[in-house]
Amino acid sequence: MAKWKHKKSSPKPKKLERFYKSDRWHEARRLVILRDKGLCVMCGKPGTQVHHKIHLTIQNVDDPTVATNPDNLILLCDYCHNEVHHRVGKHQSYLFTADGDLVSKK
Ligand SMILES: [Zn+2]
Ligand SMILES: [Zn+2]
Repeated sequence: MAKWKHKKSSPKPKKLERFYKSDRWHEARRLVILRDKGLCVMCGKPGTQVHHKIHLTIQNVDDPTVATNPDNLILLCDYCHNEVHHRVGKHQSYLFTADGDLVSKK
């Protein structure tokens, strides 16, 4: 029998915060911004947020085919990024600053 100790309110995923501060993320992000020419792929306005199509979780953050794979990354503007996340549902309680850094909601 597997013993899972799942807490009801999950602790702040430090692992994800660390990833968003890592060089590999900043490099992947930079390449995506170059590839998408600095424009939001949904509306064509200046892009500010690099979004993971397969959402980043503590489980896949170490998987380079998800976390830093350009095929899994698209450049979005603030507006479209929020739209995408709202449409997907409240899968995470994070906000992003204008340069794509993660800010945890209080
Ligand atoms: Zn947009
Ligand atoms: Zn996103």
